[in-house]
Amino acid sequence: MRTRFRGITVREGLLLRGPAGWAEFSPFWDYDARESRPWYDAAVASASSAWPSPVRDVVAVNCTVPAVDPETAARIAGAGHGCRTAKVKVAEPGQTLADDEARVAAVRDALGPGGKVRVDANGAWSVRDALAALDVLDRAAGGLEYVEQPCRTVEELAEVRRGSNVPVAADESIRHAEDPYRVAALEAADIAVLKVQPLGGVAACLEIAERIGLPVVVSSALESSIGIAAGVALAAALPELPYACGLGTVTLLEQDVVADPLVPRGGVLPVVRPEPSPAFLAQEPPPDLSVRWSSRLADVREVAS
Ligand SMILES: [Mg+2]
Repeated sequence: MRTRFRGITVREGLLLRGPAGWAEFSPFWDYDARESRPWYDAAVASASSAWPSPVRDVVAVNCTVPAVDPETAARIAGAGHGCRTAKVKVAEPGQTLADDEARVAAVRDALGPGGKVRVDANGAWSVRDALAALDVLDRAAGGLEYVEQPCRTVEELAEVRRGSNVPVAADESIRHAEDPYRVAALEAADIAVLKVQPLGGVAACLEIAERIGLPVVVSSALESSIGIAAGVALAAALPELPYACGLGTVTLLEQDVVADPLVPRGGVLPVVRPEPSPAFLAQEPPPDLSVRWSSRLADVREVAS
């Protein structure tokens, strides 16, 4: 990682090849074998069968601004590869609302008129903190596009949604939930964030999108271009796609596995099926990495779906 993000500085994963092409299996290390099972199912599905037919050639994406200082935030948003939407991380442990406010304002200024700012709290706020923060950040952004996962539970999201004019997007409440449809049943969100790997694959996500009855934003799990391509395939197959997707995250990585990384150009990503570069495949992975991931793969395969 170029910057510490989601508490990690190194991103690891496994690439699988099947009849349909290459796929990525890269659950974070804080997920156990049971939680990693949908990630494995997603990789196997991607490697085994073709993705659904796209209804669009390109997918608009946002740039992602980690919980950095305002100057760095402005630089990231300003160099956003043509992205007119920025997602700003907020509510980082050890930081204050004033830090978030300064970061959001810096990003809004860097994007200029017509730019859109959304924030992601990763469930860190209480309802009361969320309502207070949204007041401040909505003003700093000149109108927030939406807030992603302001609080942890679905009930709290519903309360925030009732108490604020800022639209609410559910992320963790969908992918960590026993029942992803509770968010819709409790009218707890305006937007559903779907991620291919944690939700079991492109086809599984298309089914959720159809059943959940909310506009969908496809986001990444910080994959290499191999995994990002599956997200783009999902976004390209959705009947409607009113928001920019969170798939421009290859820029957060220092290295990629393909020759032509899926970095946004003009704010969009193309629908492609990339392969690892010969140079990458020629590299010998560090022995400890191979051992760890082989045993992880065996553990996940043992878990019944
Ligand atoms: Mg999120």
